[in-house]
Amino acid sequence: DSGPADILETRGLAKHFGGLRAVDGVDLKVERGSVHALIGPNGSGKTTLLNVLSGLYRPTGGSVSLAGRDITRLAPHERCAAGVGRTFQNIRLFRSLSILDNVLIGAQRPGAPAKGEAALRERAFEALGFVGLADKASELVGSLPYGHQRLVEIARALAGNPTLLLLDEPAAGLNPTEKQELVELLRRLKGHGLTIFLIDHDMAMVERIADHITVLNFGKRIAEGTPRDVLRHPAVIAAYLGE
Ligand code: ADP
Repeated sequence: DSGPADILETRGLAKHFGGLRAVDGVDLKVERGSVHALIGPNGSGKTTLLNVLSGLYRPTGGSVSLAGRDITRLAPHERCAAGVGRTFQNIRLFRSLSILDNVLIGAQRPGAPAKGEAALRERAFEALGFVGLADKASELVGSLPYGHQRLVEIARALAGNPTLLLLDEPAAGLNPTEKQELVELLRRLKGHGLTIFLIDHDMAMVERIADHITVLNFGKRIAEGTPRDVLRHPAVIAAYLGE
């Protein structure tokens, strides 16, 4: 693939809610093939930024480009077709459907040429294999432990065959074993060339997994760089102490 080194770039990205500047002029570059973490105190604008990236919110200002293409005005399903997959902070699955049926929903990319059911199932099983749940495909989502539900959400996003995966707090609510499994899964996905942009609160996890960190406070980027540099940056420490 000969696209630009940065798969995602925002310029002056802003999202205001009335007078509140939830995201306030953010410049961001996410390198292709990297794991990039977005951190910051509660209310600093992380989820809002992710929602602007996935197209759930129209930005108040600024631009978003994916592999050099301006996607600022694309709707969520169009971004999905362009290669942006995402998961939500609060799991959004159909609890009364099977794991497979939930993942099949992600395999049907709106706007993409219609695929036969066999091809969709193949892609769904491939995604389930990745997260280690292929042998549980027929189980109902509602009966699964929480950690597995999170994996189903990731599998559903993977079934859309994304190049950029946006994860909103994938480690939230996971126990230490599940967190370790998640770290290993993210490493495997990265090994397959996927770019991962994630929000996380768990600094130990971020330090283990992220190649690059961007820190928000009051909707502005206050620091960016490697975990080593960012987590000892005085402005970052001050922002977290003020929480
Ligand atoms: P974080 O994810 O870092 O905790 P959020 O992006 O959820 O932060 O929120 C940033 C700010 O925007 C907060 O002050 C929050 O109350 C506000 N906010 C978020 N979503 C909305 C919304 N839909 N309408 C109004 N205000 C919102």
